[in-house]
Amino acid sequence: MDLYMTFAAHFDAGHRGTPEHASHHHGHHYKVEATTSGVDASLGTDLDFLVAEFVGRDVEDMLNGGGSDVCSMAANFLERLMLAHPGMTQVVVWETDRVSGRAVRTRTGRG
Ligand SMILES: [Zn+2]
Repeated sequence: MDLYMTFAAHFDAGHRGTPEHASHHHGHHYKVEATTSGVDASLGTDLDFLVAEFVGRDVEDMLNGGGSDVCSMAANFLERLMLAHPGMTQVVVWETDRVSGRAVRTRTGRG
């Protein structure tokens, strides 16, 4: 079997929304889940450090944009966590309890 560990962190941040979602500036209580294969006890600390950059900021200002915010955030978190955590397999960012974005590490290329 394959074993994975998942660490979670929460933070509040704002974004401008979309016409389909909410066309005005507003905030969310985001939840991030970072999953690594095997045991990696320091992942939780590094995840906390990463999300601290986003607290009280606008998501659009922190990312390159393109696609949905939750998918951009998940991809950004996964790319950065992979630098220090080679076992990283995926990151999920929850915007509400109904909507999340997921970045999954692929086996091909650099990812
Ligand atoms: Zn929103």
